[in-house]
Amino acid sequence: MNATEAWARLEPKLAYFRDRVRSLEYEPVRKNSFVAYTVERDSAYADQDGQRLLMMSGYSYLGLAGDERVVAAAKAALDLYGTGNHGVRALAGSTPLHEDLEAEVARFAGRERALVFGSGYAANVGTVGALVGPGDTVFIDKYDHASIVDGCKLSGATVTRFRHNDPGHLERRLAAAPDTGVRLVIVDSVYSMDGDIAPLVDLRKVCDAHNALLMVDEAHALGVIGATGKGIEEHFDYEVKVDVKLGTLSKAIPSMGGWVAGSADLIHHLKYAARPFLFSAALGPAQAAAALEALRILQREPQRVEFVQREAERFRGLLHAAGMSTVDSETAVVPIIAGSDTAAYDYATTCRKNGVIGLPVVTPAVPNDLARLRIAITAAHTTADIDFAADAFITSARECRII
Ligand code: PMP
Repeated sequence: MNATEAWARLEPKLAYFRDRVRSLEYEPVRKNSFVAYTVERDSAYADQDGQRLLMMSGYSYLGLAGDERVVAAAKAALDLYGTGNHGVRALAGSTPLHEDLEAEVARFAGRERALVFGSGYAANVGTVGALVGPGDTVFIDKYDHASIVDGCKLSGATVTRFRHNDPGHLERRLAAAPDTGVRLVIVDSVYSMDGDIAPLVDLRKVCDAHNALLMVDEAHALGVIGATGKGIEEHFDYEVKVDVKLGTLSKAIPSMGGWVAGSADLIHHLKYAARPFLFSAALGPAQAAAALEALRILQREPQRVEFVQREAERFRGLLHAAGMSTVDSETAVVPIIAGSDTAAYDYATTCRKNGVIGLPVVTPAVPNDLARLRIAITAAHTTADIDFAADAFITSARECRII
């Protein structure tokens, strides 16, 4: 086979995204995808093409991305340890900062031990792969994050999906599957596209009745739900406990990396069995230091969590009063449904004209006809920002005939 033939066989794969992107290649898409913003430190504003806009789609829920204490901690780590870790954790990749960070995560999560990965994605893929394999069964919510889905596929376990936030359907799925091997149920605590919360107490009951372990991904829950931002167990007043808790350091915690918290036994197992941990470089020292400092600030400044919860509620109220739907959102993530992919891009462009950035989420990330702007309320916003944003989203929705 010559090289031309080899490339020709790849062509249908390359063509898919090339053609898809080309079909969407008009101004609204160009302005709303893969855009390089200059985000102002310590504020919620961003500059694009010389226009100063209020950022309403960022993930830094607690407004700590530009915090001077977090930045200072990262700089100090750079000075002390340099820019990289020169390898995997098992072989020369650990610094005392990584160990301090793991101890702090474990304390925060209320567990014996924690392990930090290079990303939240790697934490999910590695943890699922270390817990289940051929002969085991994983039960996942239809809206679980892609990194959970990918971890399940790679693990070789049998994968069963249940209807979103439907413990009754999960129960039927568990009852129908052979009751052998490890049975693992995985849900997101907060769903990143809808901003709704998993029904933890009922899920726990179903798991207990069917010999299943329960794992939660707290990516959008840490710092966001629970009276002090401790996540889904605190949100449900510690009525029940999960078996495996996992999250990222890239959202409310403004760094990079992922974490898992659990018993000493579980973490010991993951250290050797989670391949993205064992075979991939650790997060850099500056990232570890930033995460550690932000986690400490989160615990000292619970008013950030309260602000986000209160203002998200108020923001939803303003949209509802104008006749807009925010679907089932009850957290900092507030979706505004536009309809088709094109409608979402057009709506985002109109919002931009009116001073706010709301980034479109389109297929395949969300179902057909449910393309939306994914809005996130953060502690970098002021109450005046929230009022301004609500006004801009409502005015834009009228202009685009969404309401
Ligand atoms: N889980 C969920 C629910 C997420 O939303 C994300 C990121 N979008 C991840 C895991 C992956 O985290 P990271 O970006 O830190 O790899």
